[in-house]
Amino acid sequence: MTTTTMPSSEKVLRTAYQESVAAYWNAEKDPVNIRLGEVDGFFHHHYGVGDYDPSVLEGPEETRDQRIIEEMHRLETAQANLLLDHLGPVGPEDRVMDTGSGRGGTSFMANQRFGCHVDGVTISEQQVAFANAQAGERGVSDRVRFHFRNMLDTGFETGSLRASWNNESTMYVDLYELFREHARLLEHGGRYVTITGCYNDVTGGRSKAVSRIDEHYTCNIHPRSAYFKAMAANDLVPVAVVDLTEQTIPYWELRAKSPVATGIEEPFLTAYREQSFHYLLIAADRV
Ligand code: SAH
Repeated sequence: MTTTTMPSSEKVLRTAYQESVAAYWNAEKDPVNIRLGEVDGFFHHHYGVGDYDPSVLEGPEETRDQRIIEEMHRLETAQANLLLDHLGPVGPEDRVMDTGSGRGGTSFMANQRFGCHVDGVTISEQQVAFANAQAGERGVSDRVRFHFRNMLDTGFETGSLRASWNNESTMYVDLYELFREHARLLEHGGRYVTITGCYNDVTGGRSKAVSRIDEHYTCNIHPRSAYFKAMAANDLVPVAVVDLTEQTIPYWELRAKSPVATGIEEPFLTAYREQSFHYLLIAADRV
């Protein structure tokens, strides 16, 4: 059964900024997300990792677009699998949380892999409705549930989670507030994982390419250092840090040539190649 209580503030959207992020995701029907999700019913709002098969860019012309889309989807699913690989042992009776859950792709994959209970939280009511309908179609509504909640104040019970994660959703929030909430939710020894883009402290401040990504998504990309400071301040001790930058560049190269390119491909490629931006996985234990 769920162990939820109402969030301490009844208002899920607390700021004009959060309202604008919610409005963005409520309206979002981008083919780069929908057409890829339709390949096998796992809808992702994140990027891919790994090399692509170059033959998808060749003939026959009639099937080329669909083959590119399927290949991009395969790389996005590989990204979610990589995140789940870092969650540690999770059993069927354990509870895990997907914060900033989108249309639920990573949540369903976690339930399929571990058999565990999954709660997803997102500030988009459209996404909640979409993902809960999917849970119904998959026959897992008793185990996988999505909620219109703020990840900074989820209202779920303290110490109730074996694991939790943010798959490309940390750039919408203050990291100290976010990790305080994850640390509250996780049991002692529980695992937290994030995959995120962050800017490079070594090359200096926010580059022009990183600013263009922020502008495109109405988000605020954090410096790499901010993750470790905010984790250390909230009893989250990193156990693995994986730089996925090299592994995500092929996805962006393929996406730039795909029929579902959105125009943000060049800033990503520039930012990664000039090393002002990294794609990072961080796994941490709650102590
Ligand atoms: N993790 C998903 C979706 C990533 S897109 C995936 O990998 O497919 C970013 C998500 O963060 C969206 O679902 C958006 O609604 C959510 N989000 C942004 N700010 C949030 C907040 N304050 N609380 C909860 N969800 C938030």
